[in-house]
Amino acid sequence: MHTRLFSAAAVLFMAATSGDPAVAAASDGPRLTPLLARVLAAPQPVRGSDGQTHLLYELEIENVTSGRATLEEITVTDAAGAVLGRFDARALAARVSLGGRRGSETAVLESSQFAVAFLHVVLPPKAEVPARLEHRVRALAEKVGADLTMTLAPTEVVGSAPALLAPPLRGSGYVVGDGCCDSIRHVRALLSLDGRFFLAQRFAIDFEQVGSDHRIVSGDPKLVTNYKIYNAPVYAVAAGTVVSARNDLDNQVPGHLPEGLPLDQADGNFVILDLGGGRFALYAHMIKGSVTVAAGARVQPGQQIGRVGNSGNTQAPHLHFQLMDGPSALAANGLPYLFRSYTVTAEDRAGTADFDRAEATGAPMTLTPIEPAYVGHATLPLDLSVVSFAD
Ligand SMILES: [Zn+2]
Repeated sequence: MHTRLFSAAAVLFMAATSGDPAVAAASDGPRLTPLLARVLAAPQPVRGSDGQTHLLYELEIENVTSGRATLEEITVTDAAGAVLGRFDARALAARVSLGGRRGSETAVLESSQFAVAFLHVVLPPKAEVPARLEHRVRALAEKVGADLTMTLAPTEVVGSAPALLAPPLRGSGYVVGDGCCDSIRHVRALLSLDGRFFLAQRFAIDFEQVGSDHRIVSGDPKLVTNYKIYNAPVYAVAAGTVVSARNDLDNQVPGHLPEGLPLDQADGNFVILDLGGGRFALYAHMIKGSVTVAAGARVQPGQQIGRVGNSGNTQAPHLHFQLMDGPSALAANGLPYLFRSYTVTAEDRAGTADFDRAEATGAPMTLTPIEPAYVGHATLPLDLSVVSFAD
């Protein structure tokens, strides 16, 4: 990082705030700010199964002063200043992670610390999607001794529509696990690779499946074959070319994540498809020997490419699916996507903890039926919805 530059800025900042009115009054030019901020990647809006438009992205924030800075509010606006979203101190304390690390959430940045704010802005169904966003950040900077409001990290909004996909699975009772937009395990899976941050899993879904008894697993949860989704055929979501695939890893015993797994085995038996237009699809954790395609093969939408298993970094059979902007499952930017058609039949309003409990113990999920069922066209099924995909 630009340590020297930051130090210089901090020195200047301290000079400016220690009573030099000539500097402090220069309000028309560049402004000294105690915080630096930038977005990790320009957000791409996506229409969800709730009919609303979702912007899911991250803001890196650094405190360049010699004292503590406390984030009090972040207001997301369009370029004209119209408010699109607001995060108060309490929301920030749950959404800002020191160093971008899960489990280090706080709104307080000590001197020279940085953090990542995981933001989710919801636009109502008829709202116009802005071309640009800005962030009005209000913070209390100890060395300044006052509340400051700064406009930081302007960003473009991606104007193109997300990819429109065929279903990766067929049948009913598929649970959208760790999906968009306020779940944590995928949405905040920031990785530092080759010297920078990547969030390839931003819009990933872990598909599980329940039967009419609402159970993910029936009988001994240590047996992969007892999971409803186990062995389900997996299909190509669009025409494409196989970039890479793996087919030689045994299933893990469900119940806990494997220890000491090399990074290159995290996806287990997987397929990465190049869908064209800078879009790549990842399917992970399939059954050894079930992957029917190899690098270089062309696939057609709806073609079977494998079967749901429990290989790699997984604690229960499921299909991990994501879209990203490069051929790496990890060192890429996670992209949203739309399914052409599906039906939402239920939701788990009891949250991820209920989903986890059902997956680990075989207890039924706490599902609320959606009546009449919502038929989604060209939208993204949101976290903890239960969906059917037609053939
Ligand atoms: Zn996953």
